[in-house]
Amino acid sequence: MTTCSRHPENKASLQCRLCSDACCDECTMRLGLCSRCWYKALVVVVVVMVIVSYTAWYALL
Ligand SMILES: [Zn+2]
Ligand SMILES: [Zn+2]
Repeated sequence: MTTCSRHPENKASLQCRLCSDACCDECTMRLGLCSRCWYKALVVVVVVMVIVSYTAWYALL
């Protein structure tokens, strides 16, 4: 049986898609990512959105 990498008392319900860490229900976020990778993905999305909005803004001027 695989256990969660952060909660050794919990059974792992899935593997993170990015870092393939074993996650239990407590640390699994949306899209099958562990919470660490989920926040990383969130930061990437925010940065991309900022770059895209800057590009759109300069295209308008
Ligand atoms: Zn992960
Ligand atoms: Zn866990």
